[in-house]
Amino acid sequence: MLSRRLLGTCLTALVWMTVAAANAAAAVAPSGKIDAWLQQAEQIKSSDPKVFQQLLQQLQQARELATTAQREHIEYLIIYDVAFQGQYEKATTRAHALIGSTQDPEMKFRTGVLIANTATLGRQFTESLRLLETTLTLVDQVKSRDLRHQGLGVAAFTYGQVGQHQLALRYAERILEDAPQPRTQCFANQVKFEALNSLGTLPGQDDSILQAIEQCKSQHEIAAVNTIRVTLAKKWANQGKRSAAIDLLRSNLQEVEATRFAYLIAQVKALIAELLLDKGDLGAAESFASDTIAQGGSDGNMPSLASAYRTMYRIAEARDDSDQALVYFRRYAEVDKAYLNEVKARELAYQIVRQETLEKSQQIQRLDSQNQLLKLQRKVEQQAAQNTRLIIVLLVLLLATIAYWAYKTKRVQMSLKHLAETDALTGICNRHHFTQLAERTLKQCERNGEEVAVIMFDLDHFKSINDRFGHPAGDWVLRQVALVCQSLCRRIDVLGRLGGEEFALLMYGCDLRSAIRLAEDCRSRLIAINTLESGHSFSVTASFGVTSTAVSGYILERLLSDADRMLYRSKELGRNRVSAYRGRAGEREEANSGADWPDLAEDSLVGQAGRSFGHVR
Ligand code: GH3
Ligand code: MG
Ligand code: MG
Repeated sequence: MLSRRLLGTCLTALVWMTVAAANAAAAVAPSGKIDAWLQQAEQIKSSDPKVFQQLLQQLQQARELATTAQREHIEYLIIYDVAFQGQYEKATTRAHALIGSTQDPEMKFRTGVLIANTATLGRQFTESLRLLETTLTLVDQVKSRDLRHQGLGVAAFTYGQVGQHQLALRYAERILEDAPQPRTQCFANQVKFEALNSLGTLPGQDDSILQAIEQCKSQHEIAAVNTIRVTLAKKWANQGKRSAAIDLLRSNLQEVEATRFAYLIAQVKALIAELLLDKGDLGAAESFASDTIAQGGSDGNMPSLASAYRTMYRIAEARDDSDQALVYFRRYAEVDKAYLNEVKARELAYQIVRQETLEKSQQIQRLDSQNQLLKLQRKVEQQAAQNTRLIIVLLVLLLATIAYWAYKTKRVQMSLKHLAETDALTGICNRHHFTQLAERTLKQCERNGEEVAVIMFDLDHFKSINDRFGHPAGDWVLRQVALVCQSLCRRIDVLGRLGGEEFALLMYGCDLRSAIRLAEDCRSRLIAINTLESGHSFSVTASFGVTSTAVSGYILERLLSDADRMLYRSKELGRNRVSAYRGRAGEREEANSGADWPDLAEDSLVGQAGRSFGHVR
């Protein structure tokens, strides 16, 4: 537990706290009554405990009205008070709670530094170092320079205490590089030269040390002035300037005693005794060593006490007083052992915290790498999903391209097929396609035993239409003829332009009689074509030849040739008429008699516009 006496023995640490008090007060801006009280409390907290207690009570009563920041500040002051009263554990618990709850990094830092400092003063080095490890990570977020320096100062002092002089030096130098307040500069220099002395790396020249002494003098920090003088005296003694060292210390002894700072007084006297003994002044040495021993040992000045016992032992030895020598040697050994144990304990504390930090950082690294691995896995999965999506898109694109290409090809094929099958002028089947379709139909009908009729017709005197009205008029006529025939046909019938102005029609399931009727119908419709639409006035007629499978059989060639012959028969008979084929027997009969076909007179009427006549094959 921390005692006020103990606090008083540790100058440097106390000084950091005092600096902190003044600086924290400067950092608080007064706003309202609570702010004013807070500021006042900060200013007097180390100098006037009574008023501080009163203010703290007032603040605790006003707590309900305070803002979050003010409440946190009140809590900080309570922790300060609890720590100052030596209730170290209670202070630590409350400090950890405040550090955990506040969002303000400065408050975290301020509280961490307070409790680390308290822990150092209470020789709770493990706790202090742990707190420093976490608190110092916030130093760059602390806007107040003084608060930063306060934290770095506690760190420098604490690391010096646990024998980590290199770290102590580094923190002291960080303060000095950051334009510190003059008082802060003085204490930072004090820690710096102590650390350099412990490391055996004090500068060869005395200038910087003397400057530091002068700077502390200007701030009336007499204890610090003389602590640096002790460092300088040790340096001189090491350089063989023993007398100068003794003079330096003795000439300022009064000043040192006036500080009433037991630690420093013991340190100076023990060192003077040592140096006087080395010089051979046993009497004077004995006097200073006895003084040191008389002052008694406290937790802080064990090295001075050990040094004094050692001097006494050496004096007794020099006087051949072996009994006395043994007594002092024993005491020296006891104190030295106790001191070494403490040094070891402090170093152990540092090593423990360092190990913890190392483990923590390794754990963080492990978690980090696990995290990295997970991230990487997620990335790989995302990449894989993206790749799958890409493949799907590519496949869809490929399929779409293939489909488009197939569609286009089909379209081209269709249009080529259409071109190959269709007569360009009339849009009906050309000769080739007509033949194909007709043969297919005939085969099918032959299988089914169905009758098929064929009508062929040729426009009459078509040449003269061309000649009189021009080729375009002729073309127009051909298109009109195709249209008229198409309107008469069923979907299953096959209509084709066999060439020039010659057409053929193949009718599925149609007998000769029906075909003749249809041919007649067609003939009269051609006559009815209104040619005025072509810009000219003329009439369109055609000569028809009709046959059917019943008389010509199912061979297309035969059917066409029979129909063609009938067509020419119609031409011969004067055009614009229908002639139907009756069969070979009929033809032979005709050949024999050269007369009309009496047996077919009714059925194979050959029609001509305006009249009908009994006919003829
Ligand atoms: P007929 O009554 O004896 O059949 O006499 P026609 O003049 O109709 O017969 P011809 O064979 O003497 O003449 C057929 C004409 O048809 C000759 C040709 O110029 C014409 N022709 C053939 N194909 C086309 C075509 O596609 N367009 C046009 N305008 N005329 C064509
Ligand atoms: Mg003709
Ligand atoms: Mg012709």
